[in-house]
Amino acid sequence: MGSVKQLLLNSLLLPGFPGLLRYVQRNCATVFMLHRFQDAGRGIAGCDVSHLRRALAYLVKNNYEFVTLIDLFDRLAGKGPQPRGAVAFTIDDGYIDQATIAAPVFAEFSCPVTTFVSTGFLDGKLWFWWDQIEHVFQHAACRSVQVRIGDTVFDYRLENEEQRIRAQAEFTAKCKRVSEAEKLTAIAQLAQVSGVEIPRIPPPHCAPMSWDQVRMCEGTGMTFGPHTVTHPVLSRTTHDAMGYEITESWARLRSEARSPVPIFCYPNGGWDDFGDREIAALRRLGFLGAVAAEPGYANALTFQGGEDNRFRVQRFGFPDGLPHMIQYVSGVERLKQLLRRST
Ligand SMILES: [Zn+2]
Repeated sequence: MGSVKQLLLNSLLLPGFPGLLRYVQRNCATVFMLHRFQDAGRGIAGCDVSHLRRALAYLVKNNYEFVTLIDLFDRLAGKGPQPRGAVAFTIDDGYIDQATIAAPVFAEFSCPVTTFVSTGFLDGKLWFWWDQIEHVFQHAACRSVQVRIGDTVFDYRLENEEQRIRAQAEFTAKCKRVSEAEKLTAIAQLAQVSGVEIPRIPPPHCAPMSWDQVRMCEGTGMTFGPHTVTHPVLSRTTHDAMGYEITESWARLRSEARSPVPIFCYPNGGWDDFGDREIAALRRLGFLGAVAAEPGYANALTFQGGEDNRFRVQRFGFPDGLPHMIQYVSGVERLKQLLRRST
């Protein structure tokens, strides 16, 4: 019998639709992924804090269970109760607004959150390559640029804001598809032909949190996991660079944070952005698992269904609208997935 037929039959035994949703969610948790938080003072665009507050208040009022990422990984592994629609929050990268804006809001709702930091960024050794690309496109005085990325030469017109934004998005996307060395060469060339010098220190809206802020946030319920040193797409790096990015970021985090979380977060996080090589390295270092950025539920059956599946835990981008968020946490999205799969 098809899984949906079985599901619908089972749902007849349950008290209506909410029961059906609880049923389809019994093995699943929703892990949300966030990045930037709006801070007008620093010129940072991102998740609006009043939206985050409304969303957390909704989850509390409707008795959703907040779970730490580490507890969730235990429960997905079968240690402890089933996930039953629990909700976990994660933040990627280690920007300053994640400590100053987001951490207090999560603390206000006693909601645990795990932030994945790129340690070279917090160490002040670099700022993120996509921010550098944005900086160049925003400051270029020329009307067009010609730049090589890997084997291809691209021509970008920069006559107005719309063209600059489009060029920046395209250039950034292309940089994710070439080797790390080709990407760095392309960015250096872009800066040179645009006549823009990339400063060593990031502008305020691209700044990292400090390690002191990491420890302060730990005191209010935020935990921290590693997200490489320099944030390369790992599958586009050499074997040695991949090993260094994982090992060194974990070592730095352990030396600075009080309770580092042994769960890794892949830069970019698509299925093509990591593979067996990265999973083997994480295994060797004793990681419990890892999170990707591919949308989907964290599912106990999937988690336990294959040796490496705990290194491929999926997350949903945190939506801008409350109805969309409710669709994820309530299980409506899960039901839709099951229905799609059966057709
Ligand atoms: Zn990231």
